[in-house]
Amino acid sequence: MKIIIAKNAGYCFGVRDAVDMAHDIAKQEGEVYMLGDIVHNEKVVSDLNNAGAKVVNSLKDVPKNGTVLFRAHGTKNDIWEEANRLSLDIKDATCPLVHKIHEDVRNLHSEGRKIIVIGDHGHDEVVAIADQAKNTIVVSNPEEAKNLKRIRKAGIVSQSTQAIENVKEIISILMTKIFDLRFVNTICYPTKRNQEQIKDLAKIVDIMIIIGSFTSANSKRLTSLSKDLNNNTFQVTDENELDEKWFHNCKTVGISAGASTPDYLIKNIKNKIERIGKKI
Ligand code: SF4
Repeated sequence: MKIIIAKNAGYCFGVRDAVDMAHDIAKQEGEVYMLGDIVHNEKVVSDLNNAGAKVVNSLKDVPKNGTVLFRAHGTKNDIWEEANRLSLDIKDATCPLVHKIHEDVRNLHSEGRKIIVIGDHGHDEVVAIADQAKNTIVVSNPEEAKNLKRIRKAGIVSQSTQAIENVKEIISILMTKIFDLRFVNTICYPTKRNQEQIKDLAKIVDIMIIIGSFTSANSKRLTSLSKDLNNNTFQVTDENELDEKWFHNCKTVGISAGASTPDYLIKNIKNKIERIGKKI
């Protein structure tokens, strides 16, 4: 059985840097605190917890003069203000590409545009992007775009991990409703690259395995993208979820993973598929 792993499967640089930063600070200072999970991957969060990087629900749970790490997908302005007020030691792991989206929103807003963010409602990255301007509208799918009222002047950005197809469809609807529209394509390049590699791979293999947590919208999007091209697409969180039955009569397997999937999980999956290949 031939196994092909997508070239850039797994961690994007933004997540990798944030996870490394959390490990480094925990090692140097013994403890570091994060508001919520650093990535949508239970295994990474539990490894970090064991290393001393703790998840808290509120900044009030961080000890006095403690260190707080702001995660890769950005943080709302009032949280920054509160952390400063509490004199916490802030380590900013916000991905530079997310900082750039915040800047794009502020620039579009300063041109007098109503801001529209194409993204998942309630997702931490989307919440922090929306917070960069007043009365931002979040649109997650074409149906919601159809329901929007006409707008004279709007600026549109997207969540970094959106599927290109969803964004294109929403933009074409918004073009019929907005007179003066400016769209900044803020899908980040690691996401675009990951999506393109999955599309190429899904067409040439018998089975596609997408590794990623079911709590990660990004991983679920990649699975659905692959499924559109290859019905034998399966999403798993680790090697124990692989089912031998999937691999009967299979000659080639493609593997990719969401941006929050660590390298060792990809390796474990590959090893397990190799073992299954030898058995069947
Ligand atoms: S998905 Fe893109 S924007 Fe988000 S952390 Fe990774 S590289 Fe940065």
